[in-house]
Amino acid sequence: MTDSNLNIAVVGAGPGGYAAAFLAADLGMSVTLIDPELNPGGVCLYRGCIPSKALLHVAKLIEESEQAKNWGIDFAAPKIDLARLRSFKENVVKKLTGGLGVLSKQRKVKYVQGRAAFENSTTLRITKSDGSQESLTFDRIIIATGSRPAIVPALKLDTPRMMDSTGALNLDDIPGSLLVVGGGYIGLELGSVYAALGTRVTVVEMLAGLLPGADRDLVLPLHKRLEKLLDGILLNTTVASVKDEGTGIRATLRAQDGNVQEKVFDRVLVSVGRKPNSEIPGLEKTGVTLGPKGFIQVNKQLQTTDSSVYAIGDVVGEPMLAHKASHEGRTAVEAIAGHKVAFEPNAIPAVVFTDPEVAWCGLTETQAQNENRDVKVAKFPWAASGRAITIDRPEGLTKLLIDPQTERVLGVGIVGAGAGEMIAEGVLAIEMAALAKDVALTIHPHPTLSETVMESAEVFFGTSTDIYRPKRA
Ligand code: NAD
Repeated sequence: MTDSNLNIAVVGAGPGGYAAAFLAADLGMSVTLIDPELNPGGVCLYRGCIPSKALLHVAKLIEESEQAKNWGIDFAAPKIDLARLRSFKENVVKKLTGGLGVLSKQRKVKYVQGRAAFENSTTLRITKSDGSQESLTFDRIIIATGSRPAIVPALKLDTPRMMDSTGALNLDDIPGSLLVVGGGYIGLELGSVYAALGTRVTVVEMLAGLLPGADRDLVLPLHKRLEKLLDGILLNTTVASVKDEGTGIRATLRAQDGNVQEKVFDRVLVSVGRKPNSEIPGLEKTGVTLGPKGFIQVNKQLQTTDSSVYAIGDVVGEPMLAHKASHEGRTAVEAIAGHKVAFEPNAIPAVVFTDPEVAWCGLTETQAQNENRDVKVAKFPWAASGRAITIDRPEGLTKLLIDPQTERVLGVGIVGAGAGEMIAEGVLAIEMAALAKDVALTIHPHPTLSETVMESAEVFFGTSTDIYRPKRA
């Protein structure tokens, strides 16, 4: 049997699963894609990245219309038609998931709406959405079951007032007040949406700063803007308990310094991280093994400890990001097809879609410090960028982390409007082993924010056009 004649199953149709299934079909394999939803899409399209970005787009518009006062344009306060906003978001989801359904059919991927359980390493028992069951045998199975919100036992209350990201994205109402537990990706993105819609939002973060994974200089401009937008940001604080009082949730907030305060909120969003969906029924009948945090263990080809089973995406480990899952999915399929491949990226971009956006890739300054690595950091403040001034967003910052010996770009960090789009240039620079000189000599269009990447490289050589540094005597 040639590798392209293989019969494979992909369990889970998120950005990892459908990317894997589609590539497998493109390579000539016979593919079955199994997921409980009507169409492929997974958490990202149905309950994550996509609906949240539709809402964040609206939030940005509202905030910008407020800022327009500074430019002599005074808009009336927005009237929010929640039903129409919800239907905009739902149509975005329908369009994209429906499109994936069409792409599955065009590729002749057999899409099964249902849930899969393992009978052994190559046989799945699939319970379809209509309740019928079917056992199917495959040459290889790819697990792409993703992750779910982590739960804090102290915050378990059975009331719609307590929400995870799925509940918050439903946008049932615009609550008067919202407590966000966890100042990470989800808390800050969805907290910003609700704040823009008019909710008084308080964010509680157990660590000393927001977005603990990002460098502090990148978080600072966001923190400053959020201080204006939000009702409160409580760092070094946890929620000790919550109580349903019928008309609201009474939360006990405990700070590290011992300070305890009680506050009542209309709703609470718990966004304290995610857990892998590795409790797949029958998995114990295979040779797949799990690591300490419940992630499925895989090698660089995404093969598990059972040679017939591969696993990709959130279920195999951090970072739990859609684009990492898609690339892993494609690598797994190529490995199954017999290609010589490994998942060994030099940079996986991270983007927090707040306003300003925070984005980074490759080595971070925090990581360099922790690993005692000698790096030069070249920073270009957006206050010196013509484009940033024209859009009245001078608070941004672009920085490059550069190896002082080889002058290779090892990491890129950007905070500012549109940072999420700009970080792709950093990823390309790192993957192509670009030197600071390559970036400095690459002609960037003027006037754009992208010039800040080029000028950061010029800062490294002390010759940035838009920053004057007097020569040392
Ligand atoms: P997160 O890891 O980004 O943030 C969780 C935060 O909660 C951390 O800052 C943590 O210190 C804090 N925390 C943990 N326990 C706490 C407690 N008891 N009280 C107060 N704070 C507590 O997790 P998330 O925001 O839930 O998102 C989960 C994952 O989903 C992310 O790590 C990311 O991989 C993915 N995601 C990505 C995007 C994006 O790419 N833009 C957006 C949303 C989610």
